[in-house]
Amino acid sequence: MTGIPGGRHGFACQDCGEVRWLNQGLLHLRWLRDREHVVREVAQHSSSGLDTWMDEGLAFLDEHRGHDVIVVSE
Ligand SMILES: [Zn+2]
Repeated sequence: MTGIPGGRHGFACQDCGEVRWLNQGLLHLRWLRDREHVVREVAQHSSSGLDTWMDEGLAFLDEHRGHDVIVVSE
């Protein structure tokens, strides 16, 4: 490990061991995970849709519903 700052971030499922890297910073990913239901509500009433990283993040949370999903970085 070289400890390069500003690495990549993503969601990881502790139950499946699966990781999805997303093109977004750590704080945004935490925000999405903690406010998932709010983001989905906004998406339903938005004609422009969500940013790609949000779509991908929500898809991952869907796939791992009920699992222990954490935000990871490297
Ligand atoms: Zn899972």
